Amino acid sequence: MINALSFDLEDWFHNTHLEKYLDRSLWRTYASRAQENTEKIISLLKSEGVYATFFVLGQVAERHPALIKKISEQGHEIASHGWSHKRAYQQTPQEFEAELKQSISLLESITGKKVLGHRAACFSITANSQWVIDVLMKNGIAYDSSIFPIIHDKYGMSNTPRFPYILRQQEGKKLIEFPLSTCQFFGLNLPAAGGGYFRLYPYPLTKMLISKLNHKGHPAIVYLHPPEFDPYQPELGIDPLNKFRIYIGVKNNFKKLKKLLRDFRFAPVKDVLNNLGHTLEY
Ligand SMILES: [Zn+2]
Repeated sequence: MINALSFDLEDWFHNTHLEKYLDRSLWRTYASRAQENTEKIISLLKSEGVYATFFVLGQVAERHPALIKKISEQGHEIASHGWSHKRAYQQTPQEFEAELKQSISLLESITGKKVLGHRAACFSITANSQWVIDVLMKNGIAYDSSIFPIIHDKYGMSNTPRFPYILRQQEGKKLIEFPLSTCQFFGLNLPAAGGGYFRLYPYPLTKMLISKLNHKGHPAIVYLHPPEFDPYQPELGIDPLNKFRIYIGVKNNFKKLKKLLRDFRFAPVKDVLNNLGHTLEY
């Protein structure tokens, strides 16, 4: 079974748990740590012979075009994470579309390859932002990976499918959704493979959850963020809950990732969807 490995390429200050504390108009003035953190990840991927999808934030691509080119040239897939990291349900459809276009056009001009995939900031395709689906289709996106079938304070649609499916089909075009991985326990969907859950869970639990999905014939999709591997990012004086959400497990995360890459097989999202028979338009 080949699982999907994905990174949302953003900087430490884009973290939505910091939005109360940092003024987005000052983001440009903060020292970026994206280059250093991402270089560390791609050299690990290279030494392990693993390819992944990087959902790149437009603002990061604008600041580090050479980094994006390097990731693409090393064989990884470049997909869109929007432009400004505003959640879709906090934008108008017009704002969202303008940012999506800007992001696709920059990423394609850097890599020379078509952008097929999209992930919304903070998994923000929810019941309140269903219009996003039409906007993605209109702009040539072939697959999305933003719908988290769980109950959560910031995102989630708990009653949606748990495995890749056709989200919308019209005029001969299809938009495939690869929902973030969950395992079911007592009828509840438990996040299985990414972000804060990956940092929080002891590694054997993550391994058990992904194995459980694989044994049932389903690939998992792992999502991680470069700052989650950075113990040297500025640690701000913030409230205990957000502090926990951002910094828990960061110190040992790189070791966990190494184990993960050795225990399971991974490929970019587009390849895993193709393996499942969801032929994407190129
Ligand atoms: Zn993000």
